[in-house]
Amino acid sequence: MSNIVAIVGRPNVGKSTLFNRLIKKREAIVDSVSGVTRDRHYGKSDWNGKEFSVIDTGGYTVGSDDIFEGEIRKQVQLAIEEADIIVFVVDVEEGITPMDTEVANLLRKVKKPIFMAINKVDNAMREADAVEFYNLGLGDHYTISSINGSGTGELLDALAEKLEDAPEQENELPRFAVVGRPNAGKSSFINALIGEDRNIVTNIAGTTRDSIDTKYNRFGFDFNLIDTAGIRKKSKVKEDLEFYSVMRAVRSIEFCDVAILVIDATRGFEGQDENIFWLAEKNKKGVVILINKWDLVEKETNTMRDFEAQIRREIAPFTDVPIIFISALTKQRIFKAIETAVEVFENRKKRIPTSKLNETMLDILKQNPPPAYKGKFVKIKFCTQLPTPTPQFVFFCNLPQYVRDPYKRYVENKLREIFDFKGVPIVIYFRKK
Ligand code: GDP
Ligand code: GDP
Repeated sequence: MSNIVAIVGRPNVGKSTLFNRLIKKREAIVDSVSGVTRDRHYGKSDWNGKEFSVIDTGGYTVGSDDIFEGEIRKQVQLAIEEADIIVFVVDVEEGITPMDTEVANLLRKVKKPIFMAINKVDNAMREADAVEFYNLGLGDHYTISSINGSGTGELLDALAEKLEDAPEQENELPRFAVVGRPNAGKSSFINALIGEDRNIVTNIAGTTRDSIDTKYNRFGFDFNLIDTAGIRKKSKVKEDLEFYSVMRAVRSIEFCDVAILVIDATRGFEGQDENIFWLAEKNKKGVVILINKWDLVEKETNTMRDFEAQIRREIAPFTDVPIIFISALTKQRIFKAIETAVEVFENRKKRIPTSKLNETMLDILKQNPPPAYKGKFVKIKFCTQLPTPTPQFVFFCNLPQYVRDPYKRYVENKLREIFDFKGVPIVIYFRKK
């Protein structure tokens, strides 16, 4: 029920180039793993109306060949466990290398859709060379050039067929995902919220269990909790655990309406926390930030205010996200946390009637119109909210191409101020009338 696409393959075959093409120049989330010479990239994209997350499992910069091999094997294994669809990239210039064969051997056992992308097929001559890769005996083949884009449309068409449609969300209970770094206190928070009676689903060794979506009623609220905690393999070293937890976050965020991001107050709001935050934002999910372990923090007059201000700086311009200071241990503000998550859920479903939207917004925008550009004036004539699962607005005007980002942010802020979209990403379009 999720759409996570992982790009795997040995170094230099063009994984990052393909990744950038797949996310269509949208901003990627870069997860720089400290102490390891690589970055992982997460992005969100859509094709033929279906949305998916893309994970580029890593570019490696330096290191010896055996480090590579071990690392790549691990990355491929994680991708196999956690992704729904795998794109295996190979390089027609180099031909089949022993490492390709090794990756292919790992992938051959997998029962998930696998697409082999034979990359760097920049011209017809190279089509002939691509035939060699059929010897790997793997899945469907696509000859592509990530650099000039040829063939990537066909790959995406085929991939999109394997993607799931976005689930209907109307009239359903809110689905909450509790996400955060290892040890932030996710399990403790869930236990504080729903007690120890949560379903414990045991796992068959060596497999990962799927997300479960369990219905609860607590403090008078009905909601579903997405539990992707799973069971971690003991052998996983620290950096894998981080990757694992981010993969888990990607998955549970895809399923949810509101991501409840748990932060460890004793560690502050760090890079990983920020990555998970932006994942939720890019997925247009509601967000509530819980600063957990507040019982451990020595408090002075402005401790809370300063903490909050620092986070709001990091998450700008999406700044009206609720931030709640809790302790899963003492159960401080657990009710407040869930109450707020329900509010954010309601905000995300909010529909502003077109007449009301026009009455309020057009006046305001008339008083503060977009700055004239090349001597031309932008006139906004009409606006409406789209019937999408998350708030999106279209403003019709004469010269949409002259409306710049600062003005879009101004409009977004006004919408937030007037209609309260606290905790919910908003999308704004300017279109020609
Ligand atoms: P990664 O290590 O697998 O992520 O590979 P990169 O995306 O960094 O690409 C490695 C090199 O191959 C870079 O120099 C790219 O410019 C080049 N490259 C990637 N895709 C293509 C392609 O379709 N054709 C050609 N000719 N070069 C490519
Ligand atoms: P998870 O990996 O995010 O699920 O984190 P856990 O819920 O397993 O918590 C990690 C550690 O932090 C455990 O030792 C918890 O007892 C501790 N912990 C969690 N929440 C709190 C809290 O609010 N206060 C304190 N003092 N410790 C906490």
